[in-house]
Amino acid sequence: MTGLKIIVQETLFGAPAVVLATSLPRDIYSQGVHALTYFNVWMLIVSLLGGGCIFVIWDRLAGSRQKQYDSERLFQHLFQFSADAFFLCDKDGEFVDVNHQACAGLGYTRQELMSLSWSDITDAAIDNLLSRTQHLTTAPPPPMEAVFSGKHGYSYPGDITITHLKLQGRSLFFVLVRDITERKAADNMLKEQKARLNFLAYHDVLTSLPNRLKAIEFLQAFIARAKQRDTVVAALLFDLDRFKNINESLGHETGDEILMEVSRRIKGLLRDSDVVARFGGDEFLVLLEHPQDKEGIKTVAEKILEAIAHPLQIGQQQFYLTGSIGISLFPRHGKDAQAILMAADSAMYFAKEQGRNTYRFFIPSLNVDVEERLYLETDLREALEYRQFDLFYQPEFNLRTGQVECLESLLRWQHPKRGTVGPLEFIPLAEDTGLIVPIGEWVLHETCRQVMLWRQQGLPPVRVAVNISARQFRQAGFIEMVFRVLKEYDLAAEWLELEITERFVIQSAEHARNMFKVLRQAGISLAIDDFGQGYSSLSYLRKFPFSKLKMDRVFIKNVVSDPHDEALATAIIAMGSSLGMEVVAEGIEGREQLDLLRRLGCPLGQGFYLTLPMGGKETAEFLQRISRNSPDMIKAFSD
Ligand code: C2E
Ligand code: MG
Ligand code: MG
Repeated sequence: MTGLKIIVQETLFGAPAVVLATSLPRDIYSQGVHALTYFNVWMLIVSLLGGGCIFVIWDRLAGSRQKQYDSERLFQHLFQFSADAFFLCDKDGEFVDVNHQACAGLGYTRQELMSLSWSDITDAAIDNLLSRTQHLTTAPPPPMEAVFSGKHGYSYPGDITITHLKLQGRSLFFVLVRDITERKAADNMLKEQKARLNFLAYHDVLTSLPNRLKAIEFLQAFIARAKQRDTVVAALLFDLDRFKNINESLGHETGDEILMEVSRRIKGLLRDSDVVARFGGDEFLVLLEHPQDKEGIKTVAEKILEAIAHPLQIGQQQFYLTGSIGISLFPRHGKDAQAILMAADSAMYFAKEQGRNTYRFFIPSLNVDVEERLYLETDLREALEYRQFDLFYQPEFNLRTGQVECLESLLRWQHPKRGTVGPLEFIPLAEDTGLIVPIGEWVLHETCRQVMLWRQQGLPPVRVAVNISARQFRQAGFIEMVFRVLKEYDLAAEWLELEITERFVIQSAEHARNMFKVLRQAGISLAIDDFGQGYSSLSYLRKFPFSKLKMDRVFIKNVVSDPHDEALATAIIAMGSSLGMEVVAEGIEGREQLDLLRRLGCPLGQGFYLTLPMGGKETAEFLQRISRNSPDMIKAFSD
C-alpha cells in the first residue's frame, strides 16, 4: 500500500528541507518474480510431458520392434514347419527361400531344392502363375491345380496359391502349395461312385448292357432324329425261347451265364451305331437307326438267330438255344417309343406262336392277337375243368411189312367257340404258363385209359406213344406219376413210349440222362421227337438210352425233289440204325416219299398218306380192321 510520508530534515548544508516521501511496492520486480516462477513451473510441466512422450514413444518403438521380431519368428516358424509347402521365388522362378515341407514333399534336401527353379518341379508355367497375381489386387487369386515332380520320379498333385510381396525393395512371389493327393483320391472315388450309380441306373448289372430305361431313351432319341431326317428306326425285340425252363431246372447261375453269352453274341454282330439293351429277364432290344431297307433288317434278325443257335458251352454242358424276334418300324407301326415297343412285343409273340426260332414283322392285326392270347390263356385254364380236351391217335407203320408198330396220341382242344384247336396253337402257351403239367398228366391218363378200354374190347394190343413236354420232365415227381398211371390202368411198361423233343435233352443233359435211365430200366421206351432241327448230333444223342428216333418232317418234305435232303435222310437212317435206334420218317404225305424211304431202308413211317390222326372210336375201328385183315388193307401198302 502506498503511503505518503512527510519528513522534515535538514539538508547537507543545514537548510531545512521537507522531504515528501511516498512508499510504493516494487511491481515490476514482483511481476518479474512471478513470471519467473510461472516460467519455471511451465518448463517443469513441459519437460515432464515431453519426457513422458519420449518415454511413451520409445516404449512403443521398443514394443513394436519386439513384436516385429516376434512375428518374424512366428512367420519363420510357420514358414518352416507348415504342413504346406512354401516357396518364395522371384519373377524368373528362382527360389529365394523354400520351407521344410517343400523339400520333404519333393524328396529333396534344402540345398538341392534351392539349386533348382520353379520350372524344374512343376508343369505350371511361372508366367501364367504370376499373371494371376496381377488381375486381382484385393483378394488372392483362387488356387490353381498343378502336378509337382520330385526326386526319383515321385509326383503329387497340388493346389497353388500365390501372393505378390515387396521385400526389401524386391518383387517376390510367395507360393503356397497344398498336397491334394488325398482330396483327389477322395474326389476320384466320389466321381467313380457317382459314375457307378449313374451306370447302374441305366445299365443291367449282369450283362453291362443298357437297361430298359436307357433303351427307351435311346429309342426316343432315335425317333426324334428320324422325325427330323424323315428316316426309319427298327426295333427288334428278341426273346430266348423257353429260357424260363433253363432257369428253373438248371438254376439261376447257369441262366445268368447263358444271358451273358447271348448278350456278347448279339453285341458282337451289330454296328457301333446300333443299340442292344437288356430289356427284361430274357428279352433283348436291338435298335437300328435308319436301316437301309427291310432286307437289311431281316439280315440282322437272321444273324441274331444264327448267332444264338451255335451250341453254348457252360461248364461241362452244351446248350442249344433258340430265340424269337418281333420287329416293328417307326413311323410305320407307331408314332412314339411306346407304340413301337408294343408293336415289337406283339410281333415277338407272333413269332413264338409261329413255332419259335424265327422272326416276324409287326402287322396291325397282331394287336388283336395279343388280346386273343389273353383270352386263350383264360380259356385254357378252364379247358381241363370243362373236359374240352380230346385225344387223336396216329399210327406208325413198319414200312417193310405195313404193320402198325405204335399209336401216337395227339392232343386236341375242342374249343366251345373256335372248334378244334391243334396243339401247336396252345402247347407253347401251356408251356409258358405251366399249364402243360396238368394237361400232360391228363394226356397220359387218358391214353392209358383208352388202351385199357381197347384191351377190354378185345382189340389187339398196341404200343402207345405219348408226347411229353420238357416242362413236364422237369416237374418234380414226374417219374412217380408215370408209374402211378401205369399201375392204375394195369398197363405193362413195355406198352408205353414217351416222345421227348431234342431240345429238352440238350438243355438238361445230366438231369435227362438220369431220368431216362430209370424209365428205360422200368421197360418204358423212349423216342426222340422231331430230330434234325439242328440242335444236336447223333453221336451226342448216343449217350442217351433212346430206342427210337423220329426224323423231322422237314427232311421228308423235299426228300424226293432235293438230293441234299435225300442225302441227309439217308445219313440219319444209316446212323440211327447203327446206333441201335429205330428210325421213323415223320410226315409222309405221298406215294413217292413212301417209296423212296422204303428204298433208303427207313424202318418206320408216319404220315397223312398212311393214315390221318383218328379219334378214339375211329382208332378202335381201325385196330379192329387190321386185326382181321392183313396190313394191305391200308391203301398205301396195297401194291
Ligand atoms: P409231333 O409229336 O411231331 O406229332 C406229329 C405231328 O405231325 C402231328 O401234329 C401230326 O398231326 C402231324 N402229322 C402227321 N403226319 C403228317 C403229315 O403227313 N404231314 C403233316 N404236315 N403233318 C403230319 P399235331 O397233332 O398238330 O401235333 C403237333 C405237335 O404238338 C406234335 O408234334 C407234338 O410235338 C405236340 N403235341 C401233340 N400232342 C401233344 C401232347 O399231348 N403233349 C405235348 N407235350 N405235345 C403234344
Ligand atoms: Mg410226337
Ligand atoms: Mg414229331
